[in-house]
Amino acid sequence: MNRSKSIHAFEQAQQCIPGGVDSPVRAFGSVGGTPPFIQRGEGAYMYDIDGNRYLDFVQSWGPLIFGHSDEDTVNAVVNVVRDGLSFGAPTELETQLASEIVELFDPIDKVRFVNSGTEAVMSAIRLARGVTGRDDIVKFTGCYHGHSDSLLVQAGSGAATFGSPSSPGVPADLTKHTLLAEFNDIESVKKCFADSDGVACVILEPIAGNMGLVPAQEKFLQELKAVCEEHGALLIFDEVMSGFRASLHGAQGHTSVKPDMVTFGKVIGGGMPVGAFGASSELMAHLSPEGPVYQAGTLSGNPVAMAAGLATIKRLKAEKNLYGELEAKAKRLTDGLKAIAENHGIALQTGVRGSMFGFFFNEKEVKSFSDAQKSDLKRFAKFHQGMLDRGIYFACSQFEAGFMNTQITEGMIDVALKEAEEVMGSLI
Ligand SMILES: *Cc1c(COP(=O)(O)O)cnc(C)c1O
Repeated sequence: MNRSKSIHAFEQAQQCIPGGVDSPVRAFGSVGGTPPFIQRGEGAYMYDIDGNRYLDFVQSWGPLIFGHSDEDTVNAVVNVVRDGLSFGAPTELETQLASEIVELFDPIDKVRFVNSGTEAVMSAIRLARGVTGRDDIVKFTGCYHGHSDSLLVQAGSGAATFGSPSSPGVPADLTKHTLLAEFNDIESVKKCFADSDGVACVILEPIAGNMGLVPAQEKFLQELKAVCEEHGALLIFDEVMSGFRASLHGAQGHTSVKPDMVTFGKVIGGGMPVGAFGASSELMAHLSPEGPVYQAGTLSGNPVAMAAGLATIKRLKAEKNLYGELEAKAKRLTDGLKAIAENHGIALQTGVRGSMFGFFFNEKEVKSFSDAQKSDLKRFAKFHQGMLDRGIYFACSQFEAGFMNTQITEGMIDVALKEAEEVMGSLI
């Protein structure tokens, strides 16, 4: 596959953009090679500037559940764009999208829109701290909640410990309030509570998608809820990825546990920059202008993003069995990959939740970030490169989830599996 134009474009980008990218993973650091520069997308496919076509299992990292350049979404955007891009004043579209979300997520009476998942989580944490009057928060190693200061704390040891920042520029004074626990390990959570003078909230991805796909176990979620209730801490489900991906009700389609707050992003913007956070009326009443906890945004709830989100959510609600079909296709892909790997004597762990899927080159089932880290990253990198060269676009890291969309057909999946057969054969 010729990618000479992308190679040149990447060199040029590196002259004026750090690493040539506006979000680090796009630079292909962990798999090597040059990232294709994209010209356009249509349905299941993306086309790069050299004219190569890719079957896309990334979909802008989740948002594009109806595929690229979806006609409905694009039309909805074009319609509102003609009347203006942003007003910084209320529009009815905001109320419409808010009520769609509120209707589908049980514990939520109200939502506030922001412009990214990072902002959504950052604001939810502030609200939790404001409501409880406590500073400490508990997060899990391997869960990603955006790049705001107090959440940019990652893997420590297995034991709960006060977090140290995982990036220069993040003051330790800030991250000392972030306590780290191990995913799916309730004892590590209890230790955090024991170590703290007061925990405002526990935040997690109920279906983790940022260490590869690692769902939280039902028993763990139930125990987590109980611990939070016992200590008066709020439970936050970060559903920026799993919201409208894992099911129409996000992770809550897979668990009976109800969080106190939920954060959203990705799909609710239909490809435009959007985030949101929601909770009961009582909790949300603490937010400005009703209450004292400040949060604001010049472009928050702008009509373009709201229209794209509304077109997407309305259709997700209307199309019966959509998630069942997406899940069946995701299973077809992961079951196929697993069978091919096994034929070649390669251990592969796979998982599916609605339209989210994941696979690890790992000997054992992955339940936590430390399990995920034991995956064969070199093998993953080779697999990724091989598939990319055959026009199959998987996420460029072992620690990312994959996504199915409505435009990918069974036939396309079978083509991807045929290519995977050859690539797996070259990995041994
Ligand atoms: C993507 C993601 C975020 C951050 O959202 P951005 O829009 O990239 O800021 C936060 N939490 C989770 C679970 C995510 O997957």
